[in-house]
Amino acid sequence: MAKSHTLENTSIEIIHEIERGNVQHALFDFDGTISLVRDGWQSVMVPMMVDILLNETGTDETPEQLEGVVVEFVDNLTGKQTIYQMMQLCEEIEKRGGVPKQPLDYKDLYNSLLLPTVDERIAKLESGEIEAADLRVPMSLEFLQSLQKRGVKRYLASGTDVEFVRHEAGLLGAASYFDGGIFGALREYQSFSKAMVIQQILDDFNLTGSELLVVGDGSVEIENAKAVGAIAVGVNSAENNRYQMNADKRGRLLHAGADILIPDFRDGNRLLTYLFDS
Ligand SMILES: [Mg+2]
Repeated sequence: MAKSHTLENTSIEIIHEIERGNVQHALFDFDGTISLVRDGWQSVMVPMMVDILLNETGTDETPEQLEGVVVEFVDNLTGKQTIYQMMQLCEEIEKRGGVPKQPLDYKDLYNSLLLPTVDERIAKLESGEIEAADLRVPMSLEFLQSLQKRGVKRYLASGTDVEFVRHEAGLLGAASYFDGGIFGALREYQSFSKAMVIQQILDDFNLTGSELLVVGDGSVEIENAKAVGAIAVGVNSAENNRYQMNADKRGRLLHAGADILIPDFRDGNRLLTYLFDS
């Protein structure tokens, strides 16, 4: 394997040499990859879970200790549907002698706690106080436009509930660029996963790995991509949360098998030149 290197005068890191010139379909993650609407969600989910563990179990752990436990599992499960984080919460409650509610109950609670933050951003967007571009990962929309020009079919797949994803993608001006469809978490959580969407695309179009590009900031989609030989672009985007939860995002994306790393899409056109230049 050739040594990893940075494309000259760009922010693009080539980790593995890939088969170039074949991309026809591209699948994107949403939060942290295209959208910053839910940026900071960890600062809502973590305290909620710490409170629940303190109040619904007989644990004698301190809030700080519980925070450490919660941060670790929330971080590890990021990129999968939110319900998996809530299922783990239920396990942690049981481990400490508590009787958990259903994971969906905790997910509904989480969504209701996050909603004011999301709504506030949406209201600012609608009033013109902020622009859609401020809530998008830099140059992500332009990257989608360039892919469209090149005739690449685009898909969105997110661990956030599909109705939120559709709505927020619309607000960001990005929804219409996903001509292949917008997919997200369902209440029947077994009916959706990013891996399932990827497999469906491969089957529908009879694709081989390097014809599919997968772009995301989470290890889940990168691992899913590499499991089928697709080209995986890891987006090492900056997110705000008070737990340093993505301090090692780069390391995670590398560990998951990313072929290429970018901080955002500022050098999107160079990336496309690279991908399409066989
Ligand atoms: Mg993400």
